[in-house]
Amino acid sequence: MQDLKKRLEEMQECLRLSSTDVRDRQSLLGLDADSLTCLTAHAELIDGLHVGLVDAWYEHLLTFPDPARLLGDEGKLRRVSDMQLRYYRQMVSGPYDMQYARLRLLVGLSHESLGVEQKWSTAAYHFYLDYMHRSLQRVLPDQPEQVDSLFRALMRVVFFDMTLTVDTYFTAKRLELEHTRGRYARALLGSNDGIWEWEVDADRLEVSPRWLAILGLDADSAPTTMTQWIERMPIEQRSGFKAAFNAHLQGYRPQMSIECQVRNALGQPIWVLVRGVLSANSAGDRVLAGSLSDINLRKTAEQELAHVTLHDPLTGLPNRQSVNRLILQALQRQSKPGARHAAVLFIDVDRFKLINDSLGHQIGDKVLIEVGARIQRCLRPGDHLCRFGGDEFVVLLDDLAQADDAQSVARRIMEGLMHPMIVAGHRLSVTASIGIAPLHGSNEAQDALREADLALYRAKAFGKSQMALYNDDLQIAVNQQLRLENALSEALEKRQFELYYQPIVQVEEGNARVIGVEALLRWWQDGSLISPDAFIPILEETGRIVEVGDWVLRQACLQVLAWHEQGFAGLRCSVNLSSRQLHNTGFARSVASVLEDTGFPPGSLVLEITESLLMQDGPETLATLRELESLGIRIALDDFGTGFSSLGYLHRYPLHIIKVDKSFITKAPDDERLRAISRAIIGLGRGLSMDVIAEGIETSAQMDFLRDEGCRYVQGYWFSRPLSASSLSPVLESLSGRCITDGAGRPVMLS
Ligand code: C2E
Ligand code: MG
Ligand code: MG
Repeated sequence: MQDLKKRLEEMQECLRLSSTDVRDRQSLLGLDADSLTCLTAHAELIDGLHVGLVDAWYEHLLTFPDPARLLGDEGKLRRVSDMQLRYYRQMVSGPYDMQYARLRLLVGLSHESLGVEQKWSTAAYHFYLDYMHRSLQRVLPDQPEQVDSLFRALMRVVFFDMTLTVDTYFTAKRLELEHTRGRYARALLGSNDGIWEWEVDADRLEVSPRWLAILGLDADSAPTTMTQWIERMPIEQRSGFKAAFNAHLQGYRPQMSIECQVRNALGQPIWVLVRGVLSANSAGDRVLAGSLSDINLRKTAEQELAHVTLHDPLTGLPNRQSVNRLILQALQRQSKPGARHAAVLFIDVDRFKLINDSLGHQIGDKVLIEVGARIQRCLRPGDHLCRFGGDEFVVLLDDLAQADDAQSVARRIMEGLMHPMIVAGHRLSVTASIGIAPLHGSNEAQDALREADLALYRAKAFGKSQMALYNDDLQIAVNQQLRLENALSEALEKRQFELYYQPIVQVEEGNARVIGVEALLRWWQDGSLISPDAFIPILEETGRIVEVGDWVLRQACLQVLAWHEQGFAGLRCSVNLSSRQLHNTGFARSVASVLEDTGFPPGSLVLEITESLLMQDGPETLATLRELESLGIRIALDDFGTGFSSLGYLHRYPLHIIKVDKSFITKAPDDERLRAISRAIIGLGRGLSMDVIAEGIETSAQMDFLRDEGCRYVQGYWFSRPLSASSLSPVLESLSGRCITDGAGRPVMLS
């Protein structure tokens, strides 16, 4: 009810219905006092005719299916007939004031909401006039003038009433349309989208103000044809846009939807989402209408994000993630007939860590930027350069005339890098190693990269500034290495390791005395004995050297302890250490616990470290070595002379023994320079109160040289090869504290 009242007021306002208007409507129809008097005078007659009229009307109306369905049963028909009767009575009795007009609007409204169509009510007025005219003529056959004036008065009230009813219908429709439009406008305002409508066949385009506002255009520059819209788009996007339209127009897509760019007033491309649906207008023409949403912010953010995820922030080059995509694209091109050659170059800056460590990361970064720029200068526009990570770059060479061209480019890159770089006042010479892998259509992206990486690995093995080409042998070698790694990972568990021992002998005036043994690791694999040089580097790489080293230490201590108990008291036990062990936090504590567990005297333990280990490290190594020293353990510097150690190490670190590498002593008897060096090392050790052990002694000439130089400690095949614990026991027996000389007074080789 409330709703009806509200609608009535709304309608009244929309119709501008006022007392004046009501009076005007009467005057227009000539509904004057005479007409009213005439009607009042014949009110009874008219009322009587109304009864037959209403019956006749409903009888007529019920012959139509819709009204028949609506009026339904007898009771309803009676009620409606009564109402109709009252309606006509009021229509001819008035008074025709505001109240009357409002009541008519109300009736019209309820008819409209009941679904009584306008054609029925108009027909009812016609039926009324027709029936009344004929009835008046019938009841007043002798008074044609009276009939005439009465009928004219009836016609005026009917028209007065009818215009109000027609207005009600019309206004109701208008209000409904306005409500719909209002809702639509509000929705549009809320969605912030532009609207467009395109008459397809006439190529007539209309766009809303918001459409224009999104692109910063004024009404004068609004496109009026689809052609003009498309002209506002970047050329490369036009075909996609047209294809999206056509797919919908031809029925392949239920809706047209595309993200594209349209140039704004300043000519800048703006990302928009264009959506539309085809329908027909009232004239049956094809009309495609839809929206235009501003997605520029989202799209720009997406693009920035994509750029960040696919590019390296330092050099701005495509990053590791991009490499796969680029190689995949190149592989697709490769698989097409007539494709030219392509290759992947894996580039690694030589000793970049040294630059970073010595000059700092900031300079390191600048060097990488410069390296990237220099490589880029060696490439053609279709090639791609990516920063793979750290100091590694990947180049994808496409469209090569010959496979060999990849090597030429690699050479050019190496030369390009070779010129000294001036970075933050430092003059640096940077070199790179390059692995080259040709790209085949049958490759996967990962294969090409792996192959180039393998080739790089090979190049690095040759030294600095080298390049290598991938071949299948490399893969075989890697597979072998992998198999070795796998087998090695189980070796400890399968008890395939064994310790061999080599005596360290003190020689004084022809007396040889075993003062210690060096434990040397062996690996039994498939019945053959593998030397540590072949597997220690792998253990170091995989980090397993830590647990294996722990086993070695424990095992060696137990064995030497057994020899102590067999009468070789004080026999020293030398154990080799790898840098990975020493870097392991708590290493000194783990050594201490082995000593504690086994009861091995710390004073009899020697740990051998190499020069390279000292070179790599700083304060932590020093602290660990000091801790070991404080336990009473001695530290030996192994293979002395083979590294690049500075003599400064000798007094900086707690070192007790120098082991002169066999490469010096072996050739010393015949080589003047090596003799001089060996002599200097022996003198150096003596000067620093360190024991000097000569390694790798095999001949009597070497023994003579050592005796002459006053080197008292010797290790080598001359006395004994490394042997298993059980084989070494008799050797210990025979060597221990005895004078073993040959006929010329020289010690005798036993093994
Ligand atoms: P190293 O510590 O310098 O050991 C001496 C090497 O020289 C041993 O080789 C030994 O057999 C060899 N040698 C001894 N006397 C002679 C000789 O008269 N002539 C020649 N030509 N060679 C001689 P091996 O046993 O093959 O060990 C090689 C290296 O492997 C060792 O060099 C050591 O650096 C490493 N290594 C061995 N065992 C272990 C271990 O348990 N842990 C670690 N981290 N490294 C080990
Ligand atoms: Mg050693
Ligand atoms: Mg050595």
